[in-house]
Amino acid sequence: MIVHRRLLQLSGAVKAPLAACVGLGLAVSAAYVGQALLLAGALAALARGDHDTTVTLLVWAFVVIAGRAVLLWARETVTVWAGAHIRARLRDRLVERLELLGPAHLTEARTGSVQTTVVDGVEGLDAYFSRYLPQVVVTICVPVALVGWLFSVNAAAATVLAAAVAGVLVIPRLWDATLLRRGRTRWKAFADLAADYLEAMQGVATLRAFGAVGRLGGRLAGRAHELYTTTMRQLKVSLIETGVSALLVQAGTAAAVLAAVSATSPSAWSVFVVLMITVECFRPVRQLSEYWHAGYLGITAVDGLEDLLSAEPVVSDTGTRTALPDRPEIVFDRVTFTYPGASVEAVRDVTFTIAAGESVALIGPSGAGKSTIAALLQRHYDPGSGNITINGSPLADFTLSTLRAGIAVVAQDTYLFHGTIADNLRLARPDASDADLEQAARDADAHAFITDLPDGYATVLSERGATLSGGQRQRIAIARALLADAPVLLLDEATSHVDVRGEQALARLKRGRTCLLIAHRLSTVRDADRIVVLEHGQVAETGDHDALHAAGGSYHRLLALQETHA
Ligand code: ATP
Repeated sequence: MIVHRRLLQLSGAVKAPLAACVGLGLAVSAAYVGQALLLAGALAALARGDHDTTVTLLVWAFVVIAGRAVLLWARETVTVWAGAHIRARLRDRLVERLELLGPAHLTEARTGSVQTTVVDGVEGLDAYFSRYLPQVVVTICVPVALVGWLFSVNAAAATVLAAAVAGVLVIPRLWDATLLRRGRTRWKAFADLAADYLEAMQGVATLRAFGAVGRLGGRLAGRAHELYTTTMRQLKVSLIETGVSALLVQAGTAAAVLAAVSATSPSAWSVFVVLMITVECFRPVRQLSEYWHAGYLGITAVDGLEDLLSAEPVVSDTGTRTALPDRPEIVFDRVTFTYPGASVEAVRDVTFTIAAGESVALIGPSGAGKSTIAALLQRHYDPGSGNITINGSPLADFTLSTLRAGIAVVAQDTYLFHGTIADNLRLARPDASDADLEQAARDADAHAFITDLPDGYATVLSERGATLSGGQRQRIAIARALLADAPVLLLDEATSHVDVRGEQALARLKRGRTCLLIAHRLSTVRDADRIVVLEHGQVAETGDHDALHAAGGSYHRLLALQETHA
């Protein structure tokens, strides 16, 4: 019987369904006890030859059995309903939490492990909450009540039974700590294996290209073996516990009946009652060990849950402003930032301004800090020192959802979800009408290729939009950004897949918006109002193409370098 503190706290969120499960569990037990008492009475009546009473009591016993069948059905229905409710509540909480933690958390945790917690862990917790926990309450209440009552029938038998019940409830607790520890080791092995599989599947093209599929297969087999050994070790302890419990149940039943029989001149009724009630005392205990296996997965997942629920978001959401200005001017003022755990600053003393409606391009060699600036603008992290302001207000003045809704991102690797094209577009604005979708797609130059697809806007995309070309994905991303109609635009390498028509679509998107463009290819930044050149996390130069070209500095060198490699 393992009741985990953290899981108990979580159960507070699903009090009503749990109470319903406990109530029905107690009602089912009451029906069993009622049946037991009626049968004891019937047997006693039979022993003294009172056939009429026997028949009457047996008829009542059948009525109780029928009633119990209804109660069992109701309990199962409520359990399934409660389970679904609990799963939904827990997943909502975890997903909310993941959103709060943001991408910063997923760069530290392995996606596969997090996924295992949210999917398998929650699945296991459903059984823990809807079956195991209510049964724990029934297992404590029913035997205590029955033993207490039995003292009025036969004190000796009640004493023996009390000792046996206490033994059954307490002795297996000696194994709890070991069970929980091994269970957690097993869960970790399970989560690691899941994370490895996910990575292997996502990276299969790379693995094939390097002929590393066999090597990875070996590593996965090793992980699977680890999971097998930890499972077997866990099972060993679990089986010992089950065996000891079963032994105590049998011995307790025999000893209680023996005590009842050896009382001075016992009545037939009291012996039958002791026998029947002893069985009912142990019934919840036996059922608890059945549910233990169902709920066990959830208990072992508690570490993953704990990690997620107790992880601190790297940025706080304490802002109150709920709208970004229409014409935002963004200022980076001496911004310095070091990634958590890193020893060197990713950006240092970065100062530049993007005036309202202006387009500023950020360039620089790999690792110069361009993506870091983009992450800081979206407040995935807060700078260590310096300020980022929008029309003079620090980013933290805005609620996180306002800030993120106000910045439309067209990224290098556009993420398209499994679903229709229309669903993917509506991600930016769920209430957009079909006409809005079409207008945005036309402006992004995506309408023509979408209508050429078998089901047009209702075409279901595969995961990550793998059935579309890079350029097509990019144009859907542009349409999405147009629909979002955000005042700030963040183009991350957006032009890498875009042809001339795509560039026209991008120009339409930029119009009137304050735009930060992160680029590698210098050819795509010539039109920017200003170019900020980053080097080793610092601003090396600022100016437009002509000025920087003429200055003969970093930009000029980068330009020359690119031309040599072109
Ligand atoms: P690229 O053009 O190759 O994408 P970039 O200019 O966007 O490079 P950043 O990704 O901003 O460069 O990285 C700036 C520095 O911060 C690099 O030294 C990088 O190693 C480091 N860095 C980036 N992400 C993290 C992270 N999550 N944790 C620690 N260091 C990081």
